[in-house]
Amino acid sequence: MEALRQIPPVNDVLRSSRLAEFGDLLNQPFVSDLLDRIFADTRRELAQAKAVVSRAELTEKIAVHLAERIRESLKPSLRRVINASGVVLHTNLGRAPLPDEAIDHLREVSTGYSNLEFDIESGERGKRDTHIDKLLRQLVSCEAAIVVNNNAAAVLLVLNALGEGGEVIASRGEQVEIGGSFRIPEVMAKSGARLREVGTTNRTRIEDYEKAINETTRLLLRVHPSNFRMIGFTERPSLEEFVELGKRKNIPTFEDLGSGCMVPLESSGIQDEPVVADSIRAGVDIICFSGDKLLGGPQAGIIAGKKLFVEKIRQNPLFRALRVDKLTLSVLEVILRAYLQGKPQTVPIWRMLQASESELKARAEAFAKRAGKVAKPVQMASLIGGGSAPEAPLASWGVAIEASGISESELERRFRAATPPVIVRVEDGRVMFDMRTIFPGEEDVLLKILSSVT
Ligand SMILES: *Cc1c(COP(=O)(O)O)cnc(C)c1O
Repeated sequence: MEALRQIPPVNDVLRSSRLAEFGDLLNQPFVSDLLDRIFADTRRELAQAKAVVSRAELTEKIAVHLAERIRESLKPSLRRVINASGVVLHTNLGRAPLPDEAIDHLREVSTGYSNLEFDIESGERGKRDTHIDKLLRQLVSCEAAIVVNNNAAAVLLVLNALGEGGEVIASRGEQVEIGGSFRIPEVMAKSGARLREVGTTNRTRIEDYEKAINETTRLLLRVHPSNFRMIGFTERPSLEEFVELGKRKNIPTFEDLGSGCMVPLESSGIQDEPVVADSIRAGVDIICFSGDKLLGGPQAGIIAGKKLFVEKIRQNPLFRALRVDKLTLSVLEVILRAYLQGKPQTVPIWRMLQASESELKARAEAFAKRAGKVAKPVQMASLIGGGSAPEAPLASWGVAIEASGISESELERRFRAATPPVIVRVEDGRVMFDMRTIFPGEEDVLLKILSSVT
């Protein structure tokens, strides 16, 4: 076929001025792969094409295409996005945004060497957990604390260290699944501990735990049912009863708190989120919680409690496999210190959760005014997300986008394709921005995007 005969040799394409900027990169295998695919596509197109394109034109076209693909491949994959969805701890959008101070500290500590495992005073080897251990002891009055990769890892590690080969008693009402395939019974199976379920889905009493105790019982487990709430005919032992039973029977108690809430949140309209210090004060032997849920820090799982048990967990080989690096520790340290200093408002998700309806309304009105006819202030409800306080929508304000002739799904797609991508809320057939999760510093760029897509 005449058209196919115009396909240029590879070397002609690579010599094109369009590719000069890439230099030696053109010898990389990934570039050959890209080029092979472009040639295959070109052959397919030409086989169906009616008009014949000249060799020079084809060379140019393939080179331009390759340049685009190379640039695409070299772009960072992780990118900033604007979260206009109103879901504060959006797991798919990276959960908690971090404060600048934390990133400054991370840069300071990790672009050079640090005392990660070095005791500067004695000149001897130290432990990486000491940086966090002291802060947590001061903050929640625990005896010791260690940090692992995430709370799922924390649960696995504690169950393995304290429950392997024996039984762990837990309520049927707490056999929860926390998004992304974290299920208590499955984690239990992996830990090597046997789950002994007691009670019923809606009601479990302390006597149910007590009756199940036998010589193989290693641990009493309590899990915060983070992402769902049971209402109606329900019963769950109090924390005090749970602790008392453990003490009386000499069996350690373990509570998976999920969210790591440091300060009561009732003032933000969030009920039922257990506060970390309360569990320690009640006498639970070991607790664990996430670093990037209500704590507002980096992804991490924090294990805290009685020294005897924390030490046992630390000595477990799984701890070495699940430990965190200096990046996590440096950021977590700043977050925990913010709470210790009584300044939770320096943690971004705290400012978002505490933002008042009137403040958000004023921002929505000012934003709508600047946007012109395309945005109308509306009342809406934000969600905490991240498996926290599921039934607590927070009264909020945002704007509804009015773009006649564009469907909401097309509008949603256009915002997503913007630079930076904007993740919107689609509700009642309308595209909306919730002001709560939009940083004030993002409003200017959001206005530009809004005028370019509508
Ligand atoms: C979220 C959650 C987990 C998992 O925590 P990650 O930090 O996401 O690994 C485990 N248990 C409970 C109760 C949770 O809410």
